[in-house]
Amino acid sequence: MNKKLKKVSLVVAVLVLCLTGNVFAMTPVCGYVFTRGVGNCCYYVDGSASGYSSQISSASGNWVDTGYGWNPIYMTAVSSNYATHMDFYGRTSSSDSYLDSDMAAYTSYWNTDSTLVSPRGDGPTHNYFYTEIILNQNVSDSYDYRVAKHEMGHAFGLDHTSNNYSIMYPNLYQMYVSTVQRDDHDAINYLYN
Ligand SMILES: [Zn+2]
Repeated sequence: MNKKLKKVSLVVAVLVLCLTGNVFAMTPVCGYVFTRGVGNCCYYVDGSASGYSSQISSASGNWVDTGYGWNPIYMTAVSSNYATHMDFYGRTSSSDSYLDSDMAAYTSYWNTDSTLVSPRGDGPTHNYFYTEIILNQNVSDSYDYRVAKHEMGHAFGLDHTSNNYSIMYPNLYQMYVSTVQRDDHDAINYLYN
C-alpha cells in the first residue's frame, strides 16, 4: 500500500513539473509584429542616447545570438534614422511628458507615415513599421544592461511576463536573469517564423 502511494505521488510530481514547464514555455507576445520582419533590422542611436551605446550594442548582439539556437533576428547599426526599425533616444521627464521620474525607459510603435500606432508606452494594436525606444537619462537604472534588452524585446513584439527568469519581467529588482532567455527566444520564433 505504501509502495503504491509513493508511485502515485511520484507521477503527480512529474505531472506538476510538466505543467509548470508549460506555463512558462514562451514569453507572452502582443500579437503584432514589424511589418518588414526582423531579418534586416536596422537601428539608430541618436546623439542623445550615445551614453547607452554599449548597452544597445550588447542588447542587439544578445538578441541576434541568444545561445538557444536559430532565430530570424539580424541587426545592423546605421547612422541615420531613415527607414530604420528601432531608434534610440535619451530624454528626461522634462523633455518627454510620458517619462515618469521613476520610469527607466519605454517603447512606442509607429506607422509608415510617422503616426503613433497606439499611445506611448502601450502595446501595439496592429503591425508596425518602426519603433522608438526612449531611455530616461535621469534614472540610473536606465543604464542597467538589461533595460535595452528588455525594450528591444518590446520592439520585437514581446509582452511582459510573470516569469522572473525572463528578460521581459517588468521589474529589474525581481528579475533573476541578465540576458535573453530561451522563453524569450521561443517567442521571437513564434512571432516571425
Ligand atoms: Zn517593459
